[in-house]
Amino acid sequence: MNKLISLVVPCFNEQETVPLFYKALEKVKPQLRGNELEYIFIDDGSRDDTLKELKDLQQEDPEHVHYVSFSRNFGKEAALYAGLSYSTGDYVAVMDVDLQDPPEQLAEMLAGIEDEGYDVVGTRRTDRSGEPPIRSFFSNMFYKIINKISNTPILDGVRDYRLMTRQVVDSIIKLSEYNRFSKGLFSWVGFKTKYLEYQNRDRVAGNTSWSFWKLFKYSLDGIVNFSDAPLSLASFVGLFSFIGSCIAMFFIIIRKLIYGGSVDGWASIVTIVLLVGGMQLFCLGIVGKYIANIYLEAKHRPIYIVREKK
Ligand code: UDP
Ligand code: MG
Repeated sequence: MNKLISLVVPCFNEQETVPLFYKALEKVKPQLRGNELEYIFIDDGSRDDTLKELKDLQQEDPEHVHYVSFSRNFGKEAALYAGLSYSTGDYVAVMDVDLQDPPEQLAEMLAGIEDEGYDVVGTRRTDRSGEPPIRSFFSNMFYKIINKISNTPILDGVRDYRLMTRQVVDSIIKLSEYNRFSKGLFSWVGFKTKYLEYQNRDRVAGNTSWSFWKLFKYSLDGIVNFSDAPLSLASFVGLFSFIGSCIAMFFIIIRKLIYGGSVDGWASIVTIVLLVGGMQLFCLGIVGKYIANIYLEAKHRPIYIVREKK
């Protein structure tokens, strides 16, 4: 029986890559066991002609191509959520439009689900060659930290590129939180998952929209959303400095009783004040990050706003 495969494709300023992506996918279509393809492009508030390209494609192939255009840039996570919500297929693939996610792998993913009985077939990058060493260093550190302190395993090098069954997609849609960290959400829902090897490749055209700073903020979000360990760290640091100052106070009182008072030691006092103040600010910062998340969730704002769709 023929099934429908939905392709969820977030696009942000991708006017050059959209037509290339469609061509590449139509090329691999015959290898997909006669299953139908449905394209769900999400225009994430692009400022170039991405939407125009999408409209042209839609007119060319109105039966299979759909697009959802946001009122502004809401970020890839929001785009993925929108795409999953609009998808109707029995299987859903999440793909970047820049062809860094090799379309040829779709056939192998399909085999993993239909023949081997997996619910999810994802891709995992095994080497980081071609990436600046400093970026690899910080990525490695991020994965080490988050896997130590979070109960949801987040494997190093796992990409968003994956094929999922309807059941998995429906479970992900139910997680309607505002602060979305998809890598964590995909892992949190569980299901039988297989990872295919993935070799790094360059995008066909255009530029990446991820700066180092954006990636850093993204990893902080990942940690705060999938672990409360930093909160315990805050209390630990607080407790530690409290015990430290009790010992110091005891020491000072004894010294005063034995040797009498003096104005000596103002430098050490200033140091201690600064140290304790620093610790307090540090802990406040951590708590603040969680409160900010609660605040954003409590507003129940929509994850995205659609301007037009077809
Ligand atoms: N993207 C998006 N919204 C954004 C940033 C990126 O929808 O705010 C899309 C982008 O069009 C691409 C995918 O997310 O399809 C991955 O982005 P990119 O190639 O810039 O990231 P990289 O591959 O360098 O991690
Ligand atoms: Mg890319």
